[in-house]
Amino acid sequence: MLGVLRQAGYPITSDPARAEILIVNTCGFIAKAKEEAIGVLLDAARYKTEGVCRSLIAAGCLVQRYADALREEMPEVDAFIGVTEYPRIADLVASVTAARLNGELTPDGIRAPTITAVSPATASTPVFECAPDTPRITTHPGAFAYIRIADGCDNRCSYCAIPSIRGPFRSRSMDSVLDESARRVDDGVKELVYIAQDVTRFSMKDGDPIARSRLALLLQRAARLPGEPWVRALYCHPARVTDDLLDTLANTPGVCPYLDVPLQHVDRDVLRRMNRWGDPDSILRLLEKARGLGLTLRTTFLVGFPGEDESAFRRLYAFAEAFGFDRMGAFAFSPEDGTPARDMPDAVPEEAAAERLDALMRLQRSVSLSRNKSRVGSLEDVLVERIVPHQGGQRGVIYEGRSKREAPESDGVVRVRSAEPLALGGIARVKITRARHYDLEGEAVSI
Ligand code: SF4
Repeated sequence: MLGVLRQAGYPITSDPARAEILIVNTCGFIAKAKEEAIGVLLDAARYKTEGVCRSLIAAGCLVQRYADALREEMPEVDAFIGVTEYPRIADLVASVTAARLNGELTPDGIRAPTITAVSPATASTPVFECAPDTPRITTHPGAFAYIRIADGCDNRCSYCAIPSIRGPFRSRSMDSVLDESARRVDDGVKELVYIAQDVTRFSMKDGDPIARSRLALLLQRAARLPGEPWVRALYCHPARVTDDLLDTLANTPGVCPYLDVPLQHVDRDVLRRMNRWGDPDSILRLLEKARGLGLTLRTTFLVGFPGEDESAFRRLYAFAEAFGFDRMGAFAFSPEDGTPARDMPDAVPEEAAAERLDALMRLQRSVSLSRNKSRVGSLEDVLVERIVPHQGGQRGVIYEGRSKREAPESDGVVRVRSAEPLALGGIARVKITRARHYDLEGEAVSI
């Protein structure tokens, strides 16, 4: 959206106090995300009465899901744009501006009628990509870029609203992803992070043999692009993690040896109710194979799902304790409109789910520390991303970055002390000297 707006000639600021038009991109897949999005929209609306802001636009998944209700309940918002309409953002901004200039907006900025651009995602809706002539403007610091390789999902996990928001699974072509990847590397990006609701289905059609992963092929080709970027894939579905994908992750220079595989649970009955793949044995076989190849493992669990009794939760906890994931995230079940799980019997009380979530995350804190400790003394390549502001008594300059074993934003960082200046966006050789619960510390060494 930023690239489309820049191309249309709009100057862009990240300071909401200076913006005449505020665009809030929302998430809407669980209750907490919806609450946060609405809170941010209400905060943003204050700038219309207290600052230079003239128009407020809500974009994204919350809008895609609840446009009608939002239009009713949030008169502060002047326009709504859903996930399939992002390429039209500049037109929408022009319409909002024209409506204001034509006097269709009241003096306090609250207008009628609201402008809405929302259409459902279907099997023929293209996956939104940054067109070759559109500049790509990232909102996060660092030397990485997310690249969406597919959108939508057909997996129909019983708790999940995402298929109803993002539509059925659609994939970009290998060439389109590689072209965009090459452009990002030309722009100076050092790490390409491929994302989708299910990256393991990339470029696969119904009936294709699962055993040959097109994602593996994409990773191999991307790692050979001029500039030799690091390449990472996030959100693998466990049913489609093939041997050739594991081999590619483990043995391809440039490809991060990192498997992010959300499992959601390990109890067989809970998994069936979730409409998810696997059972304790098949999950353990997959994880041991991946660990045997030296991959860093990240997963996500969902606790408090209807029917998860104490013993099912204890099985999950014992599994997480015994296996010791390098990284683990967890969520409490959120009953979502339009999903089968919303009306399932044997609901778990919210307090019990919150306690289970807390217990699991406390366990992971100590597991993470011990996994990090096993790296002390090792020499690792670190992508240097920022300078840590100077603190009193500090010797040398401290930088922050990540090795191939840390995904951006969701994992910890490596803090690197260096006597010599390090280039931001460059790779430094680092001796790991200290483990914290989630982060690591090290010293840069001469290559
Ligand atoms: S695979 Fe992920 S996005 Fe798809 S339905 Fe399941 S939880 Fe939702």
